[in-house]
Amino acid sequence: MYNKSLGSFLKKNITKLNVNPRMIKNIRISFIIFSMLAFISTVNYWNNQNYGLILSYKGKEIAKIKSEELKENIQPAVGLYVDNEFVFATKNKDFLRNILSELKQKYVKDKNLCSSFVEDVRMDCGLYPFKEIISDEEAKELILSGKKDIISYEISENDNWDLICEKFNTTIEKIKELNNFDNEFQPENLSTINIETFEKIIHVKYSQMEQKEVQIAFESIKTEDPSKFTTFKQVTQKGINGLEVHVDEVTYINDEEVTRVNISRSTIKEKIDEQIIIGTKKIGDNNLLWPVPYTKNISSPFGQREDGLHTGIDISSSGIANQDVVACSGGTVTHAGDNNNGYGNYVTILHENGKISTLYAHCSKLSVKCGDKVTKGQKIAEVGSTGKSTGNHLHFEVRLNNNPVDPEDYLVVGQIN
Ligand SMILES: [Zn+2]
Repeated sequence: MYNKSLGSFLKKNITKLNVNPRMIKNIRISFIIFSMLAFISTVNYWNNQNYGLILSYKGKEIAKIKSEELKENIQPAVGLYVDNEFVFATKNKDFLRNILSELKQKYVKDKNLCSSFVEDVRMDCGLYPFKEIISDEEAKELILSGKKDIISYEISENDNWDLICEKFNTTIEKIKELNNFDNEFQPENLSTINIETFEKIIHVKYSQMEQKEVQIAFESIKTEDPSKFTTFKQVTQKGINGLEVHVDEVTYINDEEVTRVNISRSTIKEKIDEQIIIGTKKIGDNNLLWPVPYTKNISSPFGQREDGLHTGIDISSSGIANQDVVACSGGTVTHAGDNNNGYGNYVTILHENGKISTLYAHCSKLSVKCGDKVTKGQKIAEVGSTGKSTGNHLHFEVRLNNNPVDPEDYLVVGQIN
């Protein structure tokens, strides 16, 4: 029963047999094999039956070996252990070592950088059950790509084929092949598909310095001006983004960033904050329509002058001659014509509430006559320079109980720049 050449073979080659590795981790295996062989011979002696060895791994029986078959079923190989868990055995130790080095470099862009495995990775020479010994090619794929698995993936509403391919690092061709889709398949009708996934056995960790330019956003500094309307907004200083160079130490596991620590930053360009003046003055309740659609430029506001009160606002800009003048609100025309009072051709309208009237002066042409009912926005005249005027403009007045008030307080929100 006891085979002498097998015995010496075992003695020479065995350092550790992968028989239930957790139980016998640190026991020299040659001793166990000898004891077992002795035991087998004893059993055989007593029962005259041909017993053998039962090899188990992780509590699972993987081989039942008759003593004379031992040589064919257990072979010298190198085992790969990740965090003390046996993964596989392979014949060629140098090949395995090279593949592990290749994996260490796989994700690192700068080949001078140091990388390490996240897991404790160990190679162990010994005798391994034949069934656990895989080819070089299989070992290479397992280490570099991972453990292949087919999962059933539920397609969600937000998925599209590009996203799925990117997520699982696969291609539409592979998905079609795996699911036996023909060329006519309708992706939008699918709810689940089979997808090939690779679960990494060993992860690679490395850190590198990364330099990047970072835009520093300017801030908006607002200054309130109570003399301007709430619609007023003027940028007095344009905001300009700053620029910094950051050097970060970035740690990756495989190709995924896990931490980023800023090491230094230097300013290339200082940011310039935006300065804005914003009006806070509230506009009156009457919401009168702006009378000259052509321009909102006020060339002279309402207010006290050396020669007396300027009783309205002057609206003017180049090209304003003969542009439309419209009624600020609905009402009745109470004057239309020239009165030789300096206003030139002018129109007055008494509005529907009976308290407010508006006046439109220096017109080149009038489109209404006294007594006409007008509606808000209706054309009543054209801009001109008649009467006491130095150029084409509309002198516009708002009167409350016939007393001139600042028209800017009565124009609709959003109409004054
Ligand atoms: Zn005026």
